[in-house]
Amino acid sequence: MEGAPAVRQTATGQNEANRVCVRCKEAESVTTIRSEPLCKECFKKYIHTKVVKRMETFRVRNVPSDGQRRLLLPLSLGISSLTLLHVLHLHLARQKNRTGQTGFDLIVLWIDLSHSGTQSRDPLLDAAKRMFPQHTFISSSITDVWTSVLSSLYSQDTQLGHDGNLPSLPEFLSSLPSATSRADVSEHFKKRLVVNIAKHNNCEAVLWGHTATRLAEQTLAETAKGRGFSLSGQISDGDSALGIPFYYPLRDLFRKELVAHAELVEGQLCVFLGPNDKKQAVSTRDSSIDALMTSYIDSVERGYPSIVANVVRTAGEKLTKRPPQSSNVCAICLLPYHDDLEPTGQSNGNTSQFQLCYGCRQSVPQGCLTGLFEKPSISDKR
Ligand SMILES: [Zn+2]
Ligand SMILES: [Zn+2]
Repeated sequence: MEGAPAVRQTATGQNEANRVCVRCKEAESVTTIRSEPLCKECFKKYIHTKVVKRMETFRVRNVPSDGQRRLLLPLSLGISSLTLLHVLHLHLARQKNRTGQTGFDLIVLWIDLSHSGTQSRDPLLDAAKRMFPQHTFISSSITDVWTSVLSSLYSQDTQLGHDGNLPSLPEFLSSLPSATSRADVSEHFKKRLVVNIAKHNNCEAVLWGHTATRLAEQTLAETAKGRGFSLSGQISDGDSALGIPFYYPLRDLFRKELVAHAELVEGQLCVFLGPNDKKQAVSTRDSSIDALMTSYIDSVERGYPSIVANVVRTAGEKLTKRPPQSSNVCAICLLPYHDDLEPTGQSNGNTSQFQLCYGCRQSVPQGCLTGLFEKPSISDKR
């Protein structure tokens, strides 16, 4: 507003002069959340309520008489998934206190993204295990998904060479044309692995640690990459396109609010704050679409947080869940896709050897796949 006093309000209001909390009207505020000054206790309650409200499906009274429900929580060791684990941990303890039982068990999954094949140890993982010893932790490596990707590709084309010279996952990723392609494909492989592990461990749903901020980034990035068709099946709560329900209990919270929550309320979570949690700008050179969207949403969120919330709401609720009209399932991302959605108006069937959705065809050009997978022909040099 013009002529307004020069007191700048930060996103979390940490620099503001202390005022009385608007909720309890007693304690001094420690932060300003969505223009409300809140004290420590009320800020904590605010975060917890937003999460627990999204977990209605998993109340104690909904537990079947013949067994416990299991939910998989993939842990990236970033502040979002750690905050989710922390809040759900307290939620389960409260359920147990009140009713003697819990609405679900948590299986916490950590994925080693190092491609080394031998699972490396992350000191942050040890810290998380020490903090939450009551929950089951399992680990997996991103290389574990490669076999299932290969079999999706092979099931589409039996002409592919089984000559023992299969490319490794790092070879495949390094053959992709850009940082955007690699980030995109890695993200979908991670999701496939999480779904495989959830099914394998009899989990009935996956609880993702995506905040409103992250969902907005994903919405814009997926649209930019040509996968807008699958958005509502990817970011809504409930049935997903991958055959297991997804839930996003942090969908009503911004990343900055979780950072403030760690800094002001739950100091032990601060070890999980990464350099990105405070970064202001991303170099645009060599950035993937995802990184640019992160930077963009970060800047929008500082001035216009309601726009960010709106992006997610629009994609999740206003786009109708369109059941797949065709049996085409993309060999990379496993999302059902419509062949008729080729934006250039060309049919994709004639030149494609592999069934890939529009988005994956941009990330993984056919030449890249055939180059890696085709048997050398007899006339080739030995
Ligand atoms: Zn208060
Ligand atoms: Zn795809």
